Amino acid sequence: MTDAEKKERRREYLKRYKAENGEKIKAANAAYYQKNRKRHNEYTAKNQHKYAEQRRGYAATHRKEKVDYDRRRRLEKAEEVRAAKKAYYEKNKESVKAKQRARYLSRIEQYRESGRKWVEKNKERKKEADRLYLQNNRHKVRETARKYREQNKNKIQDFMRKWAKKNADKVRFHHAMRRAQKRKAPIREAKQIAAWDKEWKSRGFVKCYWCLKVFLPDECHPDHIIPLANGGEHSLLNLCISCIPCNIRKKAKSLSKWNTEIEQPVLF
Ligand SMILES: [Zn+2]
Repeated sequence: MTDAEKKERRREYLKRYKAENGEKIKAANAAYYQKNRKRHNEYTAKNQHKYAEQRRGYAATHRKEKVDYDRRRRLEKAEEVRAAKKAYYEKNKESVKAKQRARYLSRIEQYRESGRKWVEKNKERKKEADRLYLQNNRHKVRETARKYREQNKNKIQDFMRKWAKKNADKVRFHHAMRRAQKRKAPIREAKQIAAWDKEWKSRGFVKCYWCLKVFLPDECHPDHIIPLANGGEHSLLNLCISCIPCNIRKKAKSLSKWNTEIEQPVLF
């Protein structure tokens, strides 16, 4: 029998012995440890770096085992692990924070993208969470918003201009509401008015209330029959569709004068 064969046989034997006598070996090791605890602890304390090196080597070649072990350990010793983590964090606060921040910044796009996807999938939950957050942090949110507005004046103005250009209808509707509010004119049926506004703008053509001519919806505005300035209400009964030329002409005139100029006089 060659030396190599002998070695192999011995290895086989040991493996079998270990498998068959696991409990016995464990008990013997534990007893030995109890007996030589002090010496053992001193030795390990002195050779920390050696063990660390060994652990690193093992982890590099046994990735899966390492991951499984870590997971098991985390579950088994949850409390201890948490305490150790907390102690480490307390001791190294600054460097941990810096590392976390660097990691976050290096993956910021990735995080934002996954955040967007989550919101897309969980719209209702997000809405509820936002509502709760706002409720509990009203002061903080307002302060942050104020600071942001102050620091981004130009950006916001630019954005608003672009948005208003794209959403002329909404802006006009909003202005009508504001005018009504300012004049303390009664505002009724705001929702129905919005629906009415949307409805007539989606039609193929509409008739001007004043000149009775037919126009594309794009060529018309909603108009108050009795102007808000004259005490008219912002309500369905006081709204009509006006072509832009009529809308402009009417505004500059008194109602009695206006009445004489239109196709179908109206009882104001
Ligand atoms: Zn007209």
